[in-house]
Amino acid sequence: MKKSWVYAIVSVFVFATAYLMVFAFWHRTNTELLFLILSIYALVSVSISFLSVYLWNRTKQRAKAASNRRLHRFLTHLSTPAMLWDDGMNHILINDRLRKIIGTDAENEETPDPNLLLPLLFNKEEFNEDALKEIVSSNQKEYSFMTENGVRHDMIWNTSVVETDDKGISKFISIGTDLAEIRAMESELKYYTKKLAASEGKHALSMELTEIGILLGEQGSRLIFPSKELQKMLGLSGDAVRIEELRSHIYPEDCEAFDRHILTMRHRMHEYLNEIHTMELRLYSADGQLRWYSYRFKATRMTDSGKLVVGGAILDQTTEKEKDAEIERIAYMDSVTEGPNRNRLMQVGREHYQETEHSDAQYWVIALDIDKFHLINDTCGYDSGNELLRHFFHVIMNTIGAESFAARISGDNFALIVPCTEDDNFPQQLLADIQTGFGKVMEGTFANSSLTCSAGYAKMPQDGKSFEEVLEHAEFALSVTRPERSCINPYTHKMHDTIIHENDIEMRLTDAVRQQSFVLFYQPKISLKDGSVIGLEALVRWKQPDGSLLMPGDFIPIAEKSLLITEITRFVLHESCRQLKEWQALGLPKLVVSINVSSTDFYQNNLHALVTQALDTHQIEPCCLEIELTETLALKDIDVSIAQMEQIRASGIQLAMDDFGTGYSSLGYIQQLPFTMLKLDRQFVSNMTDDPVVQEILSSIVRIAKAKHVETIAEGVETAEQAKQLRLCGCEYGQGYLYGKPMPADQIETFIRDNLVHKKVY
Ligand code: C2E
Ligand code: MG
Ligand code: MG
Repeated sequence: MKKSWVYAIVSVFVFATAYLMVFAFWHRTNTELLFLILSIYALVSVSISFLSVYLWNRTKQRAKAASNRRLHRFLTHLSTPAMLWDDGMNHILINDRLRKIIGTDAENEETPDPNLLLPLLFNKEEFNEDALKEIVSSNQKEYSFMTENGVRHDMIWNTSVVETDDKGISKFISIGTDLAEIRAMESELKYYTKKLAASEGKHALSMELTEIGILLGEQGSRLIFPSKELQKMLGLSGDAVRIEELRSHIYPEDCEAFDRHILTMRHRMHEYLNEIHTMELRLYSADGQLRWYSYRFKATRMTDSGKLVVGGAILDQTTEKEKDAEIERIAYMDSVTEGPNRNRLMQVGREHYQETEHSDAQYWVIALDIDKFHLINDTCGYDSGNELLRHFFHVIMNTIGAESFAARISGDNFALIVPCTEDDNFPQQLLADIQTGFGKVMEGTFANSSLTCSAGYAKMPQDGKSFEEVLEHAEFALSVTRPERSCINPYTHKMHDTIIHENDIEMRLTDAVRQQSFVLFYQPKISLKDGSVIGLEALVRWKQPDGSLLMPGDFIPIAEKSLLITEITRFVLHESCRQLKEWQALGLPKLVVSINVSSTDFYQNNLHALVTQALDTHQIEPCCLEIELTETLALKDIDVSIAQMEQIRASGIQLAMDDFGTGYSSLGYIQQLPFTMLKLDRQFVSNMTDDPVVQEILSSIVRIAKAKHVETIAEGVETAEQAKQLRLCGCEYGQGYLYGKPMPADQIETFIRDNLVHKKVY
């Protein structure tokens, strides 16, 4: 029933009731009064009904308005195209999304004409009942339309009836799906799915190629999640395995470290958050081989669940480890003996030194050297030399105990670290045992079984502040043994003082060389036949700041070690030539001045050039200069020696063999080496008078020398008796305190002038 009819009926009823009430009031009887009351009652109830209908309608309208607003809001906020329309083509409301598609002006909120828009969107010319039925029922049908700007859209409309009003006009809501968007999304999805698959493939491939295994574990869980690669690497049983299964692959010695890691991760993972840690583990791989792995892990909190997890990468390091081991082996191995080398010795030595600092342990550090090893190299060749070194090392290894350590540290030098025993003579005993073993090996392999070895030793920690220092002291003690054979020397504090003293001398000597703080003394050489001065030996002295003079024995050996000797030799050469020139200018008879040269001058410098330069500078005839070389110096490298000496001789300079009789004297060398003078050592001379055998030997030497046109001079002649004996032996010249001590240049002039007048023959 329509609302207006209800209002009409109710109004007629109200007027009729009102008329009856007035009528009943004017003609009131009892019956009429009852009628009046009933009428009032009817009027009141009808009014209440009327009021209720009114209020109900109003609420309904308001609810409808609210629902419409909600519907509008919903429509506006929908991100997909949507519209609200009615089949009476009165109103149409479209949301922004649809507005954008069809291209209506959103800013002006232009209302589209439903008569134009709906046929366009639904491809319908007429909205009859069938068409509407189709629109509402088919929610998968595609409708295509072309917008004004020529863009084609394919849409699926999902339409439902919202309400139908009194006039039978229905309101519809249509929510559209833009198929172009869906298709784009689909293709994008396909693209990303493909990309993801590819990147997952790449990830798996790179993991496989780099052999990196990944594992994940959650705090509090005993399960871990290994990657496929890790499962393959270790032969794990699946995507989730118990910690115990992983632990069963760990090398027993590394289990403790792994357990500690698991405990830390279980209870204190939060302390390790976001820091990368690395540990090394040895694991049994799937094929049962024990391999080295590096395990890098990091604890982190998951952003979604907030749980603490630990992620780790396991990388096979076996090849690198093997390479490292090989490099270490090469770095610490001596290629000749295949035993430890100096680097390894230093490593072991430092460890032992540290041990002595924290315990009662003490060690002998013994430096060993094969005496005259160079002779094997020179005579038998390097291969034989190497073989000898190998034998020697094996003898050492067989002699020292398992607690001891031995290494070849250079050439024929070896070092041992041996635990100290109560017996202080233990190093001597050890050297004797090594010597015996060495002798036996030599008998079997080398014809020359007389090879011996020498040693120096120091005690650790007493004899040095570090292992380096103890070793240095042992080597120093060894150097003191030379040139004796098969000798062993302990390091003493006196030696230490010597080192300090030598260091001090060396430093001061450097300044002295710069300032030329040297002076030459000259010692006359006398003819035993007529007592005349035939020459002078120049002997250097070092002037000290206090005016005293330091003797050559106190500084020449140090100068030789530090190469300062070259500068000293240069000074001596120039000064003696200058002085000789001065004496010549003073009209003194023709004299030969001798100078002493050391091994360094002879082998490392161009001595010939140095000497000729001095002679040229001072205009001295070469025959006025004599060079004295000791026989040990001359025999060090005989080929170089001969070449150097011949060059000197060819210039007309004289050559004397100094200190003959102190070394391994062999008269054979007189034939080989181009000497012009043989200087018989002082010891020879001092023993001569009491020993007829010495006299005999001396006579033979002089005879042989003469046969080779080599003259002889005796050093250290102190007595007239010695001078007489020497003359009887045929020796031509003498030098010694009997005639004159080394003296400054000004005294020499007087000496020579005096000698010209008073010659004395003993
Ligand atoms: P040397 O060449 O054998 O010199 C002879 C040494 O014997 C000198 O000692 C001399 O003072 C000493 N002497 C000479 N006659 C007697 C004697 O009758 N009795 C005794 N007991 N000694 C006597 P000095 O001057 O101390 O020289 C020692 C050594 O130092 C020299 O021995 C020489 O090898 C070396 N030397 C000296 N000057 C130089 C130099 O300028 N250069 C080099 N490289 N060495 C030098
Ligand atoms: Mg000399
Ligand atoms: Mg001498």
